[in-house]
Amino acid sequence: MSGAQGAKTCPQCGGIDTCLWEYQTRDGSEWEFCERCGHRRRRIALRDRKRMGQVRSSVKELLRQGRIDEAVEICGITVRHHEVPQKVVEDFINDTYIPFLKMTKDGYLIYRVYEWRGHGAYSIGLNGTGQLGSLHHNNDIRKKQITSLLSLRNSHEVKVIEVLDDGTIREY
Ligand SMILES: [Zn+2]
Repeated sequence: MSGAQGAKTCPQCGGIDTCLWEYQTRDGSEWEFCERCGHRRRRIALRDRKRMGQVRSSVKELLRQGRIDEAVEICGITVRHHEVPQKVVEDFINDTYIPFLKMTKDGYLIYRVYEWRGHGAYSIGLNGTGQLGSLHHNNDIRKKQITSLLSLRNSHEVKVIEVLDDGTIREY
């Protein structure tokens, strides 16, 4: 899969280059996460599950009957001369979902956006490897989470940043 990734200014806390982002070229999906405040956002291309199911079952039926050319045609794919059509069709119905993305009448992809306000974030490092995560929105759960994260400090490098309800940032 090809795409792009980088870091930008966080739309929630304004942290410079603290918001990591990733973009998928094949369907325009996006993901972002701020390692300072825990802000998260996802943009996902919707799939047409009904059509996907219909095409899958007709293609499977055609393959079962050995009618490979017709299966290729239904999938709307181009088979290169060195490829085995049966294999291409099987890969198509098992994996690729590009042709099953939901589109508007004008041919634009349809997305759903999910966004979470961040209540803080943490990183746990050990021997050069790390793990990132966000703090829970519930105050009580978050307190426990912070306590257990800080208890890892004797063996790991732990960074915790909490965002309080009024937007204040507290570093541990
Ligand atoms: Zn942020």
